[in-house]
Amino acid sequence: MAVISERFDSLGADGVPAKLGLMGGTFDPIHNGHLRVAEEMREALELDAVLFIPTGAPVFKRDQNVTDPEVRFANVRAAVAGNPHFDVSRIEIDREGDTFTVDTLRQLREHYPENVEFYFIVGSDTAATVGKWKGREEIAQLAHLAVAVGRPGSADADTLREAVMAAGPFQLHLVRVSILEISSTDIRERLAQGKSVRYLVPWDNGGRARCPIVSMGHLALPPLSHPDPLSKAFFNARKAELEKRVSAKRFQHSLGVSDTCAQLAKEYGLDVKKARLAGLLHDWDKGYDDDQARARVRELHMEDEIDPYIVEQMPGVLHGITAARALGQEFPDIPADILQAISRHTTAAVDMSPLDMALYIADAIEPNRQFGRIDELRAAVGKETLEELYFQTYEYWVFLLFERRKPLHPDTIAIWNAYTAQHPRKGKRGNGDGSVSGKKHKGKK
Ligand code: ATP
Ligand code: MG
Repeated sequence: MAVISERFDSLGADGVPAKLGLMGGTFDPIHNGHLRVAEEMREALELDAVLFIPTGAPVFKRDQNVTDPEVRFANVRAAVAGNPHFDVSRIEIDREGDTFTVDTLRQLREHYPENVEFYFIVGSDTAATVGKWKGREEIAQLAHLAVAVGRPGSADADTLREAVMAAGPFQLHLVRVSILEISSTDIRERLAQGKSVRYLVPWDNGGRARCPIVSMGHLALPPLSHPDPLSKAFFNARKAELEKRVSAKRFQHSLGVSDTCAQLAKEYGLDVKKARLAGLLHDWDKGYDDDQARARVRELHMEDEIDPYIVEQMPGVLHGITAARALGQEFPDIPADILQAISRHTTAAVDMSPLDMALYIADAIEPNRQFGRIDELRAAVGKETLEELYFQTYEYWVFLLFERRKPLHPDTIAIWNAYTAQHPRKGKRGNGDGSVSGKKHKGKK
């Protein structure tokens, strides 16, 4: 169970200095002003992550009729889901009684190691009230104060700086952000009058509803639209991200696997779009070195699901498993069978689905791979059944592992035995080097 947030609970656990932005607010409802402030702060102050913390019972809004915390939370969560640097925390919602920032900061300080620095982000209107904050001296000790200046109707930068410094020994950052004249109050008023709030909030009336309608009490907000994960737009957006996540060579390989997997799908009657996306995303986490791959397992809270021996001794196989989990969290609409294929592409499994097999084969035979028996496998596409082709590929990879004196994954024998039981070799005999044809090949070292 996450304590602070799903994504960032273990921020700083690796001992590396990290900066965590904290964006508190009532978020009644969250709007594009909040999101843009957080994004610009992240860039300006080089924050590793920004945590949105919806208030439970906001002290300054006691007299107002504030929307149910769970509804506000659900909206914030949906709004930040698409940004890997953002997440939402329940800590204020789950705390009994009035919400005070100082309590939140204490709780965060207890949770995170010293190498994580906090940046408490506020708009200039909120900063102007600093003189009234409970525990402001302590807040100044616990966090930097990052003030977004430019919000209309607020004091100028000098006046603000004076007010803040009079209130406590703050480490103050005044950051000029794009002025988005948006407030939750204005949005509530527009909704009450039946007016449009399109482009003010991260929901789109015209988009296809792919997530449950999160209704703001009596005001029905249009649902957030999620792009269809099998659309061209989604593919292209992930492709652009992948290019930044992995090396140029790995990126080319991923495109090759995507095309090859789609061809295999066409040949064997599978869903071509799914195959194409699975191929593109299979090495999503391949940009990490061994230690980073292990850290990724911790970040995703997968320690209990993966054999510690594998994490320690075979970090090279982790990227498929972590990619599937991370992608599933970031893009909940990606079909489960695609995630399964990604998860299994490194080690395979005894009960591979056709899509699992297609991805496994495509990873081995895409055009950028040039070694050993690959041409023979390529030539067998369409001639052999998908299962037979998969098993030949598997056989070849296991052979290479032996030849390269690599450790075998503990599941490898079970997979091998399951397939040899079902698919005994008829007629042909091997050449003693993993190949079955007349030609002899040597595996690339
Ligand atoms: P309300 O009108 O209900 O007070 P709000 O739009 O001010 O809502 P809050 O949830 O009160 O939203 O704000 C959370 C934080 O975000 C505050 O620190 C606020 O100053 C800041 N903030 C909100 N909207 C903007 C904006 N458009 N530009 C800059 N900062 C903003
Ligand atoms: Mg406000």
